[in-house]
Amino acid sequence: ELTSAVLIEANKVLKSNAINKLSDQHAIKLANKLDQDSNKNSLLYGIPYFAKDNFATENIETTSSSNILKGYVPPFNATSISKLEDQGAVLIGKAALDELGMGGVGLYSCNGIITNPADYKRIVGGSSSGSAYLVAKGIVPFATGSDTGDSIRKPASFNNIVGFKPSYGAISRYGLLPYSPSLDTVGFFTRNVTDMAIVCDATFGYDNKDATSHDNESKEMFKNIGKLNTSIKFGYIKKVIDDLSENLKSAYYNLFETLKAKGYEVKEVSFKQELLDSLSAIYKMISFSESVSTNANLDGIKFGKRAAGADYVEIITNSRSEGFGDEVKQRFLVGALNLNKENQIIYLNKAKQVRRLIVEELNKVFIETDILIIPPTDKIAPLIEDLKTNSNSETEYLNDILTLANFNGSPSITIPFLKEGKLGIGININTKPKQDLLCLQAAKV
Ligand code: GLN
Repeated sequence: ELTSAVLIEANKVLKSNAINKLSDQHAIKLANKLDQDSNKNSLLYGIPYFAKDNFATENIETTSSSNILKGYVPPFNATSISKLEDQGAVLIGKAALDELGMGGVGLYSCNGIITNPADYKRIVGGSSSGSAYLVAKGIVPFATGSDTGDSIRKPASFNNIVGFKPSYGAISRYGLLPYSPSLDTVGFFTRNVTDMAIVCDATFGYDNKDATSHDNESKEMFKNIGKLNTSIKFGYIKKVIDDLSENLKSAYYNLFETLKAKGYEVKEVSFKQELLDSLSAIYKMISFSESVSTNANLDGIKFGKRAAGADYVEIITNSRSEGFGDEVKQRFLVGALNLNKENQIIYLNKAKQVRRLIVEELNKVFIETDILIIPPTDKIAPLIEDLKTNSNSETEYLNDILTLANFNGSPSITIPFLKEGKLGIGININTKPKQDLLCLQAAKV
């Protein structure tokens, strides 16, 4: 009954472009099988969800919202999808994204633009645009996402929902179509922090199909979510908070007072401004370079829709020219230029060195404090019309501040914070890598 009801609701929002594909038959088959099942103990038993369309799903088309992958039907499930299915969760369909995960807006899916469910003139954010839309709209209680720079945590902020990027490797990336493998992280959207603990309990763990996955010390997160120790320290970077609008700034300082009143220590931590200012450049250098390398198999020969051509080179050129959108092409061009031998030495290796400096700076932060509070966005979801015009170079570093947690692999969660009508602005909480339980406990508080 629940599965059918959700399918009816999902059908009503097909025009939003948030859904790439409904997997009706699969969902109903699964639900019927669950009805026969005697083990109904799992908290995810029968719970419907959407998967971002860059998760491989067995016998269900998986396109990463790219024309080049139209018609690709994987013969296997991503490990995270198998684990959710083992727990009885029911996949309803595939959610649209900015093509191949490249974007933060919701305007780059090959199937058309997705707008904010609370205000169609504003962006929903991305790249996990459809997942954020479907959870914010209340179609499903959770959806999978992937986060390379901020693709879960920023849209969560724009849509008043919870978005969690766990530690790098906490959830297997096997079956996640890549954007930038050294940064890509599997995570989720939910409507509250407790639900997040449930989906993480179901999916965390080492997977021998992903050598970068690990067995996290965070276990039984649902059971322990309410147990934050009062000796935990909260920290913030003063300049970052002080650069926010007056309204938002005072909301942060009020929160710090509330935390202090609850007995927690709240302290300023230092972070070199030049490293904050470098985030955008370093993120682009590393992610664009990795993206062109890791997506080289989408050539119309090994994978992807094949275009006509007289020879090998022409087939590849035509397949890629027809198959990719402009944003992806631009990133591949810059990435390919970085990978040129000389440029690797002049630029890419330098970018990796700066990434190391950022990680070391974060290591110092997490000696001073257990929790680092960051503003995931400095305003509500922007108007689509204003996207190109609204840049203020002095505070531009705030746009990419969430990438900090991708550089060092920290768990990082965005939760609703300040309401502005139907819209809102989230707050983001980080801990050192592998302390995912602590991150969720702090979010719960
Ligand atoms: N918005 C960032 C970008 O455009 C992050 C994308 C992501 O995390 N997948 O690259």
